[in-house]
Amino acid sequence: MKLEIGLFGNPNCGKTTLFNELTGGNRSVGNWTGTTVTLDIGHFHYKKQAIDLVDIPGIYSLFTHTPEQLTGCEYLLNYHPDVLLNVVDSTNLERNLYLTTQLIESGIPVVVALNMHDAMQEQGLFVDAKKLSELLGAPCVKISAAKGYGIEKLLETIMAVVKNPSLCDSDRIVNQFSPEIREKLEQIVAQIDDESVPEHIDRHWVGIQMMKEHWQGELPEELRGQGDAWETAISEERYRIIGQIVDQVIKVSPLIRRRQLSEKIDAVVCNRYLALPIFCLVMFLIFYLAFGPLGNALNNAFEYLFNDLIAGWVSAGLTAAGAGPFLSGLIIDGIIGGVGAVMVFLPQLAILFLCLALLEFSGYMARAAFITDKLLSKFGLSGMSFIPMILGFGCSVPAIMACRALDNKKERLLTMMIIPFFSCSARMPVYAVFAAAFFADMQYLVIFSLYLLGILVALLTSVILRPKIMQKEKPVFLMEMPPYRKPVWHCIWSSVWVRVWDFISRAGTIILLASVVVWLLSNVNISFQMVGTDASILSSIGKFIAPIFSPMGFGFWQIAVALITGFMAKEAVISTLGVLYASAAVPLSAVLTSLISPASAFALMVFVLLYTPCVATLTAMRRESGSAKYTLFMMLYQLGVAWLVSFIIYHLINLFI
Ligand code: GDP
Repeated sequence: MKLEIGLFGNPNCGKTTLFNELTGGNRSVGNWTGTTVTLDIGHFHYKKQAIDLVDIPGIYSLFTHTPEQLTGCEYLLNYHPDVLLNVVDSTNLERNLYLTTQLIESGIPVVVALNMHDAMQEQGLFVDAKKLSELLGAPCVKISAAKGYGIEKLLETIMAVVKNPSLCDSDRIVNQFSPEIREKLEQIVAQIDDESVPEHIDRHWVGIQMMKEHWQGELPEELRGQGDAWETAISEERYRIIGQIVDQVIKVSPLIRRRQLSEKIDAVVCNRYLALPIFCLVMFLIFYLAFGPLGNALNNAFEYLFNDLIAGWVSAGLTAAGAGPFLSGLIIDGIIGGVGAVMVFLPQLAILFLCLALLEFSGYMARAAFITDKLLSKFGLSGMSFIPMILGFGCSVPAIMACRALDNKKERLLTMMIIPFFSCSARMPVYAVFAAAFFADMQYLVIFSLYLLGILVALLTSVILRPKIMQKEKPVFLMEMPPYRKPVWHCIWSSVWVRVWDFISRAGTIILLASVVVWLLSNVNISFQMVGTDASILSSIGKFIAPIFSPMGFGFWQIAVALITGFMAKEAVISTLGVLYASAAVPLSAVLTSLISPASAFALMVFVLLYTPCVATLTAMRRESGSAKYTLFMMLYQLGVAWLVSFIIYHLINLFI
């Protein structure tokens, strides 16, 4: 006896592919008696069993809205297939199972081919076929019609179902309908005239279909005319049940789940309009944390620790040990004063490093680079340079080291060269002192404008230097967007610690050495005799250099010396001015306001912002770029730019204000 299998499925579920795979193209066209409907019928053998495979047009449901759906229904009612083979697109299970549940209810045994299993795996999805079989009441087999796997098992399952139709349970879904629907359904089923319905068709299926117009004549009086409402109610119920089933059988791999979540977050974070405001807000919050009330409080605490406690203890110890003024001065003012001036910024930098590490490890930094890529490309850079630039606000040294992440060597060099213009946190104390003394009412505005000016000069520098460094090369932004991750604290801590330790060790080496040298030079003369600062080597150098700054109104040797010491560490500008100008009676701010004008003060801050960064930055630059030539060039370039911009701004202020 020939076996007949009805092949059902949604459009594009891979039905034709499976049909061809099974039949090898051996087909004929069947014409239904009394109709014009023609169907493809494939012929093949499985284990000597001759099989006819009837290809029903692709449909989404068995309600009779379209000619294809009608064909499907009529095939079920008027023919007597042994088995229905339902091809399902596993990557879209929810929609495909709608038809499946209707087929199962028909009472004809159904085997479900979970097709496109390969595509599903690619998407990181997993379907539990065994569980799905139980929940549906029909055996399910994973296959890939395109790749030709699972076919043997599918045919075996079909043969098993033919032998034992009780492997399928046509009532499994109906039994899950709500009590109200079931009650109504039973009411309708009771009205069915057995004569009018083929024996092989389940009465529940007929009951559900009966609400359709051309069955309506047989409906009980009170249910007539309710067809649409009934269809909607049944549909909703079906989707509810299918939803529950899918939830139980589809497993998403954790990686995919994270990727899906990332996509949702990105829809907001990388949104065309929201991306930049969100980015600015994030940056603002970081700076607020590091340099706002919290950072300042910690800064004050560290200042107290170094300048009062430690300096006090050491001073008492030195006095007790009978140390002379030279040794005391060297240790207290030179070493503790110099190293302490840098170390007080440790908490603020630690906050900054922590926030940046959080952004980096969470995956946001890669988005920030992506968001700023378009903007930076206008200046000859790519989003890849963005992360080092942001780090530059903290400290230029780790920022220059972060340039290692840039694959393009030339872009790396260019980024390194502009980083020093991003106002590092060591310049903050200089701004703080001058802004408070000269622009008490608008300190924040003044400091903010300096940060912006730094960025502007950096970007302009990129435009100027790019043709020389990059030639015609255009930086490409190639960065894989990692999924968002929850912070792994030990990774964050170790990243923060590496940077903090780097900072501390710098303070203990370069800064210490620089402090000792500065102190010595400001206290000895050319014959290495202890003298007052006014007669020291440093003052001679200061007096020699000071005229350079006269055009901006701050051509005093003390300021010139402070700027030289700032070359060791920018914050030393303030400590030097403190040593050279301040006294117990007159605070530094009072001396400064009596000495220079607000325009000069602003020009001085601009000079501090832009001139050659500290020795540590130059060392890092020399090491990372591998080029003494470029390092020297940048040093001179920055000096030149600082002088020029400071000069222009000084005269502009005088001209307009
Ligand atoms: P039909 O509309 O149901 O007849 O679907 P087709 O057999 O024409 O297949 C629709 C698309 O799905 C075609 O591009 C097929 O190559 C593809 N396809 C079919 N089966 C598979 C499968 O198992 N895996 C994958 N990845 N693609 C498939």
